[in-house]
Formats: sequence, structure tokens, C-alpha cells
Amino acid sequence: MTNHDSRHIETLAVHAGRTPDPATGAVMPPIHLATNYERDATGACPRGFEYTREGNPNRQALETSLARLEGGAAAACFASGNAAAAAIFQALTPAQHVVIAQDTYYGTAVLLKDIFAAWALEATFVDATDPEAIAAAMRPQTALVWVETPSNPLLSIVDIARAAAIAHAHGARLVVENTLGTPVLQQPFEFGADLVVHSTTKFLGGHSDVLGGVVVTNVVDEFFQRLRRIQVIGGAVPSPFDCWLLQRSLKTLPCRVRAQSETALKVARFLATHKRVERVLYPGLPEHPGYLTAKRQMSGFGGVLSFTLKEGAAAAKALPSRTRIFTHATSIGGVESLIEHRASAEGPDTRAPQNLVRLSIGLEHPDDLIADLAQALGEVPQPEPKPVFPGGRLLRTPGMPQSG
Ligand SMILES: *Cc1c(COP(=O)(O)O)cnc(C)c1O
Repeated sequence: MTNHDSRHIETLAVHAGRTPDPATGAVMPPIHLATNYERDATGACPRGFEYTREGNPNRQALETSLARLEGGAAAACFASGNAAAAAIFQALTPAQHVVIAQDTYYGTAVLLKDIFAAWALEATFVDATDPEAIAAAMRPQTALVWVETPSNPLLSIVDIARAAAIAHAHGARLVVENTLGTPVLQQPFEFGADLVVHSTTKFLGGHSDVLGGVVVTNVVDEFFQRLRRIQVIGGAVPSPFDCWLLQRSLKTLPCRVRAQSETALKVARFLATHKRVERVLYPGLPEHPGYLTAKRQMSGFGGVLSFTLKEGAAAAKALPSRTRIFTHATSIGGVESLIEHRASAEGPDTRAPQNLVRLSIGLEHPDDLIADLAQALGEVPQPEPKPVFPGGRLLRTPGMPQSG
């Protein structure tokens, strides 16, 4: 058993890491903006906090919440998802080797190629949907296998248990990016992951108003202690207000994510039947190559989907400015639905096809979102059929003008 708490995730989301403020009894925690904490006569800080980069009540409470939601032992929060990923790579030593899924968030690949390559950390990018490809890339120096499932924005699915078995057989750790899955739909530690990473900016924050990242560990070992040191000495920590906002968001995470996931499935089914759509990338559709794996390791398929258009790049670039409910903006996971031409956002090194559009599904009504996509895709909405008498005459409301 890796799960350190048997309570249900809805209960943990509301209660884990939370107690009324001992100083005042306030049910909601205060935001501790202080950067420093008073010492006693011996020079010690009796409540455990000294300087906010090293530790802060809001960050500590948030880390407790996140560790329990993932069923892990401990968590380290960072100022962004990229800062969390960078901390993991920094915890490795030069000449070590990383095997990483080619379908990961483009920023993670950029970190390895542009920043960490200069520090002699080698990375091999593989098609991680194929366990044989992961196994073939392993070397004696491989310290880490990094997968992201579902991946952003191609929604590819990696079999976590098989990736974990390969990593462990070679003495390496498995990192799972769970930003799209969230602990509500997928608990990577149950399948053998050693570390779970999130951009908390996305579903965990959920309101497009707080940037953050987290690394959750299954055991507090030497590697995690090194990561903690990088967090507090490197200093890429989130502000107390960011921690407070994020912890507030977590309470509604299970409700939000399940609703977003159910709506995404409806939107995916609608798009799959649309004549202008070439392909829908969503693991909840049985035709998706990762469908069976996703079904095994997830309890829902998530709130992000992508699709490609038959007419190509120009049509895909034009679509986001035609929607009325979907906002044309980057990012995912918020309560408002978003639409984006992903290749334009990622730039020349993108793996997203030029005819691909990514959707992040919010909490609007599914019918309204589908109607919005239908109109944006140029379908003239069908008028409501007019009520008729059994004899076939149109029913008119008395006094209404009789227009032709
Ligand atoms: C957004 C995102 C990131 C980067 O997170 P930031 O908080 O923007 O630094 C990493 N991975 C995935 C899957 C993402 O969607």
C-alpha cells in the first residue's frame, strides 16, 4: 500500500492539512506574509519557522494537503510547474541520464535541451506509449524515467505500471507528470511511480489566477531530501498568498475535475462526428490508442482534449477567434473553457500538428459548449422545429404577427 490515508479524496480535499488557526480559532487560515519569525531567549524559533524561504505556515499546510491528495509521503511546492521540474533535474548529477517521453509538455523538453544539456545532463526522448522504446533507451547511468500521461497537448497515454517496472529494473526512479490526470482521476503511486509532478497552475489551482508547481514523493529518501534542499536554497518557492489561494482551490478539486472530465467526453463525442474534424485526441474515446490503458489507470479521462481539422493549418488558426464561450487563451484547467492553436503557442520546435486545436473544458454547461463549437465550425444552428397541429397547420400564438 502506498496510500498514506484511506479517506476518500473529497474528504481529503476539504480537510487534509487544515486545522483552525490555533492563535485565533479562525476556521480559515490566515495568510502569513511575515518573512521572518521571532527567536526565543535561546536563539531558537520555537514554532519551527525562521525565514519564509525555508518554511512558511501556508506552504507547509499546502504541502501536507497535496501529499495526502496524491497518497504520497511528502511534497515540495515551487513557484511554477517548470520550477518543480527544474528542481528534479537539478537533483541529478552531471553525466546522469534521463529517459523522457517525447510527448511531454514542451517546456519540460526545453528545460532539458536548452538548460540542463549545458550541465551535462543527458536526455533521450522516446515514444513512451511503447514500453519497449523506454526499455531500449535505458543505460547504466539512467537515473530517471519521466512520463506525462495524459500528455499535453497530444493526449498520449503511458502505461504507468510498465514504465515503473522498467525504471526499477534499471535502478532508476519513475516521475509521472499528473497535471492533466490530477489525483482525482489518477493516482500514479498506486502504479509504482516514485515522484509525481504537477503544474498546480492548471487543474489544482483551477481558476487561472495562481502559478505554481509541486513534486510529491512516495517516500522521504535521500533524493527527496536533496530536492527539499534545492527548494529552500535555490529559493524558487511560491508566495504565502499563492499557497493560500491554491489550498483554497483544492477543496473543490474533485467536484471540478469530475464535471470537467464528463463534459470533455461529451465534447469529444460531438467533435468525433463532425464532418470538418479529422481526428479527436481524447483517451475517453474507444478509438484512442491509449483507451484501454487509460481506463485501467484512470477513473475519468480529464478535461483537456485536442482535435485536428481536415482543411489544415489555416482553418485551425482561424477557429479560436470564432468561438463565443471558449476564450482564446493559453493554459488549461480553469473553470472557464479555453481554446488555442497549440503549434502557434509552442513555436518552431512544437510537436503539435499545425492543424491541431486544443480545448480546455471548464464548468459551463456541455450543451452550450457544444453549440459554441458547432457555430464556430460553421454549422448553422437548426431552428427549433415549430409546433404543429396534428392536421399540419402551424400553431400560432394569438395576436402574434403572421410573418411569411
Ligand atoms: C503548464 C504545464 C507545465 C508548466 O507549468 P508552469 O506552471 O506554467 O510552469 C508543465 N507541465 C504541464 C503538463 C503543463 O500543462
